[in-house]
Amino acid sequence: MTRSHDLTPAQLRDLEAELRYDLARLERTSISESASSVDAFSIDAEIAAHERGGVAVVLEGRARTRRAEVMEALDRIENGDYGSCTRCQSGIPYGRLMVMPETAYCKNCGE
Ligand SMILES: [Zn+2]
Repeated sequence: MTRSHDLTPAQLRDLEAELRYDLARLERTSISESASSVDAFSIDAEIAAHERGGVAVVLEGRARTRRAEVMEALDRIENGDYGSCTRCQSGIPYGRLMVMPETAYCKNCGE
């Protein structure tokens, strides 16, 4: 099948290494701070965290979101979909991926 990204195998390898490094770091954050009953991806938990004003809990929620994005990016690498925008299918420039390797969107579709 055609691939819309033009990353070299070496670039892909670098980005995958970066993602795995990020994932390991995020796993550590979660393990050290999540003895609480906060459920991953739970909107209720996010709201509860805001209501309690628990900054650490909010940050923990962000780490979980980021971890989910990193894991999805690793999935895309495995499937060969990585490097193209999941919305418009155009290639995401290597420069953008270096800054945020977990991004699923090109500059036009993402933030
Ligand atoms: Zn796009």
